[in-house]
Amino acid sequence: MSFTSDGNESIPTDFDDVVQQVSTGTLAHQRIDELLLEAHERYADVDEGLLAHYIPILGQVEPDTFAISMSHVGGTVHGAGDCHHQFSIQSISKMFVYALVLQEHGHEAVHEKIGVNNTGMPFNSVMAVELNNGHPMNPMVNAGAIATTEMIAGKSAAKKWENVREGLSAFAGRPLTLDDEVYESESEANERNKALGRLLKSYGRLDGDPNNAVDTYTKQCSLNVTAHDLAVMGATLADGGINPVTGQQVVSADVCRDTLAAVATNGLYERSGDWLFEIGIPAKSGVSGGIVAVAPGKGAIGAFSPRLDMAGNSVRGQLAIGHLSRALGLNLFASAPDSGR
Ligand code: GLN
Repeated sequence: MSFTSDGNESIPTDFDDVVQQVSTGTLAHQRIDELLLEAHERYADVDEGLLAHYIPILGQVEPDTFAISMSHVGGTVHGAGDCHHQFSIQSISKMFVYALVLQEHGHEAVHEKIGVNNTGMPFNSVMAVELNNGHPMNPMVNAGAIATTEMIAGKSAAKKWENVREGLSAFAGRPLTLDDEVYESESEANERNKALGRLLKSYGRLDGDPNNAVDTYTKQCSLNVTAHDLAVMGATLADGGINPVTGQQVVSADVCRDTLAAVATNGLYERSGDWLFEIGIPAKSGVSGGIVAVAPGKGAIGAFSPRLDMAGNSVRGQLAIGHLSRALGLNLFASAPDSGR
């Protein structure tokens, strides 16, 4: 027996014939408005963290904007702060593109090609790719996200982009638009992502043109959203794939489950373990300051505040979501002793 690995062997599974039941629990939604305001007030003065200067335009944003929104799977959306302020979705796009790709190609193919295990390294790590024999490892780091975007349906780059934009818009329940300034700024500063694309290609892990894959990825990161949108997009994944506001089935319930597992293990990069330990729900961040956290069967929280910790996660966003996760009982690992005893 060998314990060396290319980082991505599957664990044995033998339960495809067992009907998937869901974990249950309801959201204490009468308290959401009050708790959102409480969290907003409590963390509005936190000024730790830095802007994402490596993308020039993101280094120029107003650092104090702060918004928290929560969508219940029943379709009501609550908010505190500037919930309709627009910002580029950045890496949060990775989870929704991943869901679309799972829907298109299925659990097995995507698992094999992209993987789900954490690299333990920063989101733009080249070393992680080298150490794993060119395997992109998981869909939430840049290498895995570029490989995932490449798998989106569409023969041409233009068609793939159209499918990404339409797919993410279906999650949001409104047509999302490209922020041209962010796209230009990031296109001028994405040599590292281009290098990741070429590296994947050199390992035979990418079928098409790596520059096209990186360009579509850069565009998906430059789509504008609001905290309100993030809450609705996340709640779609909490609601078995049905957008709770529009009623549209965007992806299947199985795709939601698989997506949230990949988000739980990798959504906050090398801090994903700390996050699960402290907060206990899958969450995905982006370097413009957005963060979405999903409580399966209950709803989702979208938060925005641009100052980031060293791993690139919104500082206030993490605090606000942590507060709400505790107060609303969202932590997936928390239980109380059985009262029937
Ligand atoms: N577009 C950004 C990049 O590729 C996304 C990174 C992020 O949000 N963590 O670097």
